[in-house]
Amino acid sequence: MTSGKLLLQAPLGYNPTDQGGVISHLTNLGLVGAHYGDTPVAYLAGPKFLQLITFLGCSPQLQLEPPADGSQNFCHIRLHGPFEKPRLLSAANTRPPRCPACGKGLAQWHQMEPIWRNGNSESKIICQSCGQSASPADLDWRRKAGFGHYFIEICGVFPEEAVPLPALMESLRGEGAPWRYFYLQDW
Ligand SMILES: [Zn+2]
Repeated sequence: MTSGKLLLQAPLGYNPTDQGGVISHLTNLGLVGAHYGDTPVAYLAGPKFLQLITFLGCSPQLQLEPPADGSQNFCHIRLHGPFEKPRLLSAANTRPPRCPACGKGLAQWHQMEPIWRNGNSESKIICQSCGQSASPADLDWRRKAGFGHYFIEICGVFPEEAVPLPALMESLRGEGAPWRYFYLQDW
């Protein structure tokens, strides 16, 4: 199994007051199934999981049932948020984002990473090439990190191999702004 994750990221500002409503929407879609484990935010894959997320590559090794040894190392779903302040989710696979003005890589982003992970998005990064300042929400993380208030995590998938289908992204969006997705992996 892999430590990789697919993250579905709600648009900035998305802040559902009714977490139960979100869960029933995901249940009705068939993305999530039964509640799993002893935290209130973890779910088994639902009956339509494989119709909402497609897996590229030959014979992906997908384990959708909890292993007999009680390990959490299998494909399931966890909800993160809503956070009062938006935060950065990043991992070992995250690459330097590019400056939105000049396109140079912002190599010093690692210094900002712990600050943004804690939700201090007022702290901006200054491009060392052109002097442009940018907040984490302005940056293109190239599907290797995300910044927001609310995330749906699908654990136990290889990055890039699991792709959410348009029907899922449209359903999450509803009448609002589009959702995004990205991948995290620690190794
Ligand atoms: Zn720049």
